[in-house]
Amino acid sequence: MLDLLIIGAGPAGIAAAYEAKCAGLDYLVLEKGLIGNTIYNYPVGLTVFSTTNELEFTEGDLKPAREKPTREELLSYYVRFVLDNDLNVRTEEAVLTVDEIEPHVFAVKTDKAEYKAKNVLFAIGAMDHPRKLNVPGEDLPHVFDHFRETYPWVRKKALVIGGGNSAGEAALFLAEEGAEATLAIFREDWTNTDPKQGCIKYWVKQPLENALGEHCLRLFFLGRVVEFRTGETVLENDAGERAVIPTDVVFVLIGSDADLTLLKNLGVATENGKYGDVPVYSEETFETNVPGVFAAGHFTNQRHIKGAIDAAKALVPRLAERLRSNEEPATPEKAWPAAACEQES
Ligand SMILES: Cc1cc2nc3c(=O)[nH]c(=O)nc-3n(C[C@H](O)[C@H](O)[C@H](O)COP(=O)(O)OP(=O)(O)OC[C@H]3O[C@@H](n4cnc5c(N)ncnc54)[C@H](O)[C@@H]3O)c2cc1C
Repeated sequence: MLDLLIIGAGPAGIAAAYEAKCAGLDYLVLEKGLIGNTIYNYPVGLTVFSTTNELEFTEGDLKPAREKPTREELLSYYVRFVLDNDLNVRTEEAVLTVDEIEPHVFAVKTDKAEYKAKNVLFAIGAMDHPRKLNVPGEDLPHVFDHFRETYPWVRKKALVIGGGNSAGEAALFLAEEGAEATLAIFREDWTNTDPKQGCIKYWVKQPLENALGEHCLRLFFLGRVVEFRTGETVLENDAGERAVIPTDVVFVLIGSDADLTLLKNLGVATENGKYGDVPVYSEETFETNVPGVFAAGHFTNQRHIKGAIDAAKALVPRLAERLRSNEEPATPEKAWPAAACEQES
């Protein structure tokens, strides 16, 4: 019986694992992809927008070559952190069901094994369901919901649809590296400068404007997407006029949503958050309405890495305290090692 089973090895799950190890808990992280899977899926060569202090687990650990780390530097840091601290993370193992078989006993079934845990932390991120436009042709093989890299699209006609930073960055990568790029965006998203409303960050917007000036990027003020066809896309502009745009490849980058099925099946209450449904949880303990079920990270109200790490750092020591006060160690070996991490460092 584990004290804590953590689902997801993103920044939230890794931070929770480290805290669990420090607190001497029996813990396990199950990750359906790779360590830092969401970061692994960032565009190749991307420089992230956060500064190191917002991304690292311990101050001064992340040392990028420039002011902000690239995808590769950040991913390497998270992977090394797991390895160097010998955290108990099992990758490529997807959690399929979580059932409460009695109070504070959760049966967790994966595609490889079954586990029992007294507490479960969902750190599942919000990348499971890329949003769809639901227009004809969206399932054609040249229409992607994820942008990985530019080089297959050099000298090709690339259309990016979306109004946030991911769409802006993809359009910029494509324009700068030799694709014939068009960004189809709602006019209010292009003119939006409020970071709280998820605008394109200014350090992406400025080079995008330069790219427009240099004619390697076109802007299309979108009314709606009508249809994707092989070799072309039918759009309507914000004046309602139809345009048929030649396209070799399309990236629909309009956000993604978490998969809350496991939580809902456990009886965890959800509510409508700013970016979609989020679990209801205590801002202090991160526990949901189901005792022993916790939520941290991107699929909660904390959309960024700092919030994900801070949540994990706050909730695990508190949980360890609760477990400690509820249980006497059965054997000396099982005795709570008060400061496992302090001893190591
Ligand atoms: C292109 C891009 C750039 C970004 N740049 C920044 C930035 O500069 N700064 C910033 O703060 N944020 C940034 N973000 C957002 C950032 O990636 C998230 O805030 C961060 O990943 C959240 O961490 P997390 O641990 O909550 O979730 P995630 O990192 O998404 O981790 C969740 C993990 O859970 C796993 N998982 C889900 N379901 C299951 C299951 N059933 N079984 C097992 N495993 C499961 C997933 O595979 C995933 O690895 C960016 C996002 C994108 C897409």
